[in-house]
Amino acid sequence: MSSDCLFCRLVAEGDHVRKADGFVAIKDINPKAETHLLVIPEKHVPTFREISEFSADESKRMLEFIAETAREQDLEDYRVVSNVGEGGGQTIFHLHWHVLGGRMGGFPG
Ligand code: 5GP
Ligand code: ZN
Repeated sequence: MSSDCLFCRLVAEGDHVRKADGFVAIKDINPKAETHLLVIPEKHVPTFREISEFSADESKRMLEFIAETAREQDLEDYRVVSNVGEGGGQTIFHLHWHVLGGRMGGFPG
């Protein structure tokens, strides 16, 4: 836990839509789709580039947590996005996954 990391703080004390097994889901403060959640691992890893810092089991559980979060929101069709690095649009350097469903207000593509 890094006290100067916003997502470490939100993992510890945020308003969680879902929490299990080392992962949380929260609502994005600035939604770019009808449903816009962020899935955040408790473990602080700056970007997706460092995915190998998670064990095979943790990585699998993280992907399953994303799928389960979408299912709980009654999303069947949706997008899962991780922006990697400043050039990839990342603004918070604690690995996270955007889960976007429904109407996309200005989301690229
Ligand atoms: P990134 O740009 O790093 O891929 O995604 C960061 C996301 O975090 C953005 O979509 C932004 O709206 C969201 N965000 C930034 N600050 C907060 C906050 O304090 N609370 C929540 N729930 N989301 C935030
Ligand atoms: Zn962090």
